[in-house]
Amino acid sequence: MSKPKLAVYWAASCGGCEIAFLDIREKIIEVDKAADIVFCPCIMDTKYKDVEEMANGEIDVCLFNGAIRNDENLHMARLLRKKSKILVAFGSCATEGCIPGLGNLTTKRGIIDYVYHQAPSNDNKSKTEPKSVTKTKNGDLSLPELFSYVRTLDQVVDIDYRMPGCPPVADQIWNVLEAVLSENLPPKGAVIGVNPKTVCDECPREKSEDKVVKKFVRPHMVKEIDPDKCLLDQGIICNGPATRAGCGALCTQVNLGCRGCYGPAEGIDDIGGKLAGAIASMVDSNDPEEIEKIVNEIPDPVGTFYRFNLPGSIIGRKI
Ligand code: SF4
Ligand code: SF4
Ligand code: SF4
Repeated sequence: MSKPKLAVYWAASCGGCEIAFLDIREKIIEVDKAADIVFCPCIMDTKYKDVEEMANGEIDVCLFNGAIRNDENLHMARLLRKKSKILVAFGSCATEGCIPGLGNLTTKRGIIDYVYHQAPSNDNKSKTEPKSVTKTKNGDLSLPELFSYVRTLDQVVDIDYRMPGCPPVADQIWNVLEAVLSENLPPKGAVIGVNPKTVCDECPREKSEDKVVKKFVRPHMVKEIDPDKCLLDQGIICNGPATRAGCGALCTQVNLGCRGCYGPAEGIDDIGGKLAGAIASMVDSNDPEEIEKIVNEIPDPVGTFYRFNLPGSIIGRKI
């Protein structure tokens, strides 16, 4: 009997999801025994034409990480959708836009101006900018065309499953691979590689019933963070109450607030809106001016509440 065919692809991503895939360590040998990895540009010399030559539906499962930032990402999303029986949006970039999605706070022009002309480390006296086609005496050279804004995978093609995390943790990846290899996946549309409830439910810190905060602080501003007490109770922003469980509350165990990389918990449509409301309601004051002053002290609210989720949120981007 032939082995199932597996593909792993990156679009607008940092490569961390591929590292996480390899982080299953020696279990990769079990994956290799049970499946043929037919396409994975990060670890194998496979070309786009190899995929183009495959029959439709020939790949059994494709783990697609990365967001849709340019026309190459879109081409590969459409191609891999056509060639794969099961397409999994793998990691936060594919499911929600993640860090590349923060580019939706500006425009394509704004990004090019900053990166090629204004960044302090830049030395670009000739004011060169990337072009999608450059003519040379040996022929045309091409680069992907940037889109105006970042989209999630399910905003451009139909997907079968979503697996959140920046990156998903190795244990959850292995659970999902086992489910794939034993053909034991849940119904289409499910969020996989997660646990029920929220990061707070996995977090071992002691939580107070009624949280009240006079001032929000960043971790480096606290002389000694209590390792047992809820970070929010200590005035440190933590997105755990609205974030889907699955990572084992990794960040809070090293005194860092959860930043929400596992995406919105069940029943939450817009994680940033939910968090901003929850945090504002904790302020210990009835005076609207004082509440506004305390909330305004939270640095970079979009980067705090929508760090991983802007393109996938209701707001989506700055218009
Ligand atoms: S989800 Fe995180 S680790 Fe994965 S590609 Fe995106 S930024 Fe990198
Ligand atoms: S530290 Fe964060 S994740 Fe842990 S209980 Fe408090 S709010 Fe929840
Ligand atoms: S604690 Fe939050 S930010 Fe950290 S890994 Fe878990 S879900 Fe992601």
